[in-house]
Amino acid sequence: MYDLIVVGAGPAGASAARSASKSGLKTLLVEKDRIPRHKLCGGGITPKVLRLLDFKLPDELIECIVKSARIHVGDQIHNYETDQPLTYMTTRAGFDAFLTAKAKEAGSEVLDQTLVTRIEANDSHVEVTTKKRAFRAKLLIGADGMGGPTAKLVHLYDHWRLHQVAYAIESEVMVGERHVHDFIGPKRYFDLYFGVSSAGYGWVFPKGDHLTVGVGCRLSRLRDAHALFDTFVRKVAALNGFEIPKPQAHLIPLGGPARVPTVSKRVMLAGDCAGFAEPLLGEGIYFSILGGQIAANIARMACQRDKYDEAFLRKYEKECHEAFGRDFDVAYRVACFSYLEEYDMDRVVQFFFRDKRVRECMIGLMNGSIRYRDAKLKLAWPYFKYRLAKLGVPFYR
Ligand SMILES: Cc1cc2nc3c(=O)[nH]c(=O)nc-3n(C[C@H](O)[C@H](O)[C@H](O)COP(=O)(O)OP(=O)(O)OC[C@H]3O[C@@H](n4cnc5c(N)ncnc54)[C@H](O)[C@@H]3O)c2cc1C
Repeated sequence: MYDLIVVGAGPAGASAARSASKSGLKTLLVEKDRIPRHKLCGGGITPKVLRLLDFKLPDELIECIVKSARIHVGDQIHNYETDQPLTYMTTRAGFDAFLTAKAKEAGSEVLDQTLVTRIEANDSHVEVTTKKRAFRAKLLIGADGMGGPTAKLVHLYDHWRLHQVAYAIESEVMVGERHVHDFIGPKRYFDLYFGVSSAGYGWVFPKGDHLTVGVGCRLSRLRDAHALFDTFVRKVAALNGFEIPKPQAHLIPLGGPARVPTVSKRVMLAGDCAGFAEPLLGEGIYFSILGGQIAANIARMACQRDKYDEAFLRKYEKECHEAFGRDFDVAYRVACFSYLEEYDMDRVVQFFFRDKRVRECMIGLMNGSIRYRDAKLKLAWPYFKYRLAKLGVPFYR
């Protein structure tokens, strides 16, 4: 019998497995696809991700480092320039395979091409049935992403609400290294577009020889995803004249620990299946890794104390809430505000995008030097001025 079975070898599962193995737990990591596997994603890794890892990411996995952001709002462009890395651009197949190799190196047993079909938790163990055979463990971490089966199989929840899920549609456009070089320029830019989706934003991420272009929208506001993507792509000057491959789409669950239950008897959920993506920009990799590491630590404590009931595992929910759930709550409110004000973009630009404190916040949130809970106060004054302007108070109009 294993101490821990982890379902899914994305960032959440691979990180949970590595941490658990390092703390001495006998761990099995089960993945349905063959590793390395494709995962639709921008592949943007913020500097705070590297700080979470207890190993160095090989240079060859980083296709490009960006240090500045061009924020497009309508026809205006606001340049946020820094001389520090803002995001490391990777391709997920390589990144996730590397994290999985690190789990293996720490002692985890890794089984790929093994689909989990059934999970049964009882008083003595949790049993995981796969296409190949069944396995038993004291505990299970479900890290099988959006649409993975664990949450349903253990009756934690059935589905997400439409407004808590983003539909993200993305394509990789081969433009060649030279064009990528021109696109990033000496300041090393990437691009974000606001006001292009009724409840979301668009992005262009530079990679070695291509640009990853995508746009997201809350499912509750989504009408025609392909029309949304085509209209957005036409706006991006850097893509003019290039063939745009057919885009692919995937869901991002937003809102985190407060929105769905993440523990039941002998089971914890981490990563996308627990909604650990930041609700404003949809950053998920960092929170998946952090959540996976927290889950592994709770698993270690559970095994030490021989306690696997839901009441004990609630510690996990509490720790996730303290580590990032509080920030998600703030980000969720900021997102709802931004999407509600989409028709008043001129004023949003005037009071937010042009405000020095807001710019500093955005850069700090991206590079991880501040958290949403710290940004709340900095955003309060521009928000107050914005409200006064909307009410027609003359000085602020
Ligand atoms: C278009 C798009 C762009 C994005 N861009 C970014 C970005 O730039 N930066 C960022 O931080 N986040 C981004 N995200 C979010 C990010 O991709 C996710 O938050 C992250 O992948 C979640 O990791 P995870 O480990 O929870 O799940 P996943 O990475 O989805 O891994 C889950 C794993 O579980 C496996 N699995 C599923 N079912 C089973 C089963 N039955 N048995 C066994 N294995 C199973 C899957 O094959 C998969 O390997 C983006 C998302 C999308 C959709």
